[in-house]
Amino acid sequence: MNILVANLGSTSFKYRLFRFDGSTELLLAKGGYERVTDYGSTIDDCLASLRAAGHVRDASDLHGVGFKTVQGGEVTGCLPADERVEQALLGTADLAPAHNPPYAAGIRQFRAKLPGVPLVALFETAFYQWVPAYANRYAVPDSWFAAGVRRYGFHGASHKFIAERSAELLGRNDVAAIVQRLYQDGPKPVTGSPLRVISCHLGGSSSVTGIRNGVAIGTSMGLSPQSGLPQNNRVGDLDSAAIPFIQKKLNLTTAEVERQLTKESGLLGLSGVSNDLREIREAALAGNARAQTAIDLLIHSIRHWVGAFWLELGGCDALVFTAGIGENSAWIREAVCAGLSDLGLVLDSAVNNAAPIETNLATAASRTRVLIIPTNEELVVARETRRLITASHG
Ligand code: ADP
Repeated sequence: MNILVANLGSTSFKYRLFRFDGSTELLLAKGGYERVTDYGSTIDDCLASLRAAGHVRDASDLHGVGFKTVQGGEVTGCLPADERVEQALLGTADLAPAHNPPYAAGIRQFRAKLPGVPLVALFETAFYQWVPAYANRYAVPDSWFAAGVRRYGFHGASHKFIAERSAELLGRNDVAAIVQRLYQDGPKPVTGSPLRVISCHLGGSSSVTGIRNGVAIGTSMGLSPQSGLPQNNRVGDLDSAAIPFIQKKLNLTTAEVERQLTKESGLLGLSGVSNDLREIREAALAGNARAQTAIDLLIHSIRHWVGAFWLELGGCDALVFTAGIGENSAWIREAVCAGLSDLGLVLDSAVNNAAPIETNLATAASRTRVLIIPTNEELVVARETRRLITASHG
């Protein structure tokens, strides 16, 4: 079964082609296009190059196309990318303006170009469908909640990948099996001790998710992907009073406030140097105090959420780091894990610096294991697309 995963940006189109054969998962091809103005002709180009490489003969060799859609409000999960999904993407576009309109347009073009090929949307919010009721609420009037102001959570594909892979690495195939079938069967009880994982997806955008027995109990992102931790140029959590206050004080329009919160805030706004943590670190080491504050706040925010889920879970069997920062920055991992010996976590500095993949970075005596697991969001989209198609077509 060949599954194409399409990653659509406002001017970009990236794709990966996976082949599933029994239990074998193969990445057959990947590629991308920049400065895209028309998805229709880009889809043609993509198919032509897959044909030229001998991966598919024609569109009938494509058994499904999966999309990592971001925000659809109440429409979530893994479901056919139909008109309802398109409407949901457009209806919540204000909450994910960089992602939702391109996905709505791209899905429409795929449907026109590939009639008969199943299109599947896996929402980034899907992993949070089973959080306790309080964890998806803000303390706003009920009419706001009814209108959609609630905590949705994002990076669901990545955190689901971590939930499954960490369970496998910890020898908990029972939990891994629950994660695999989560979107078909929902959460399942576990016999034996609960598996408690805290997943830190730290990259250009970052979030921390608490996971019990393969199911998210909460996450740091809420209504939109600009909440939670400070992001590269997006603000992260902010007191709602700041917005009307600063609009009056600096005489800013709502559009300008939005622009500054999404483009000039986060690590860039804090440091004044860069949105890239490597450059911020260099500046901090050279004595730049703002850069140091950006780093300190990022570490504090990660620890704030790790701590919150540690208590909610009643402990932590594995603390997992993933994405650009989580996988590559030993000093961030070290800072996040500092001073936790009373909680039972002791990082092995030498192993952490060597950064072996999917290997415990904590000491043998540490009750909590620390792992780097490279995430693979596209594979999750492909797997879920396959599961949905297989379930609906037998
Ligand atoms: P995205 O979230 O945009 O998909 P990534 O997960 O690839 O991005 O993360 C990109 C970020 O990872 C960069 O902005 C950079 O700050 C950070 N990063 C990558 N390598 C390192 C490193 N060695 N040390 C610190 N940060 C790093």
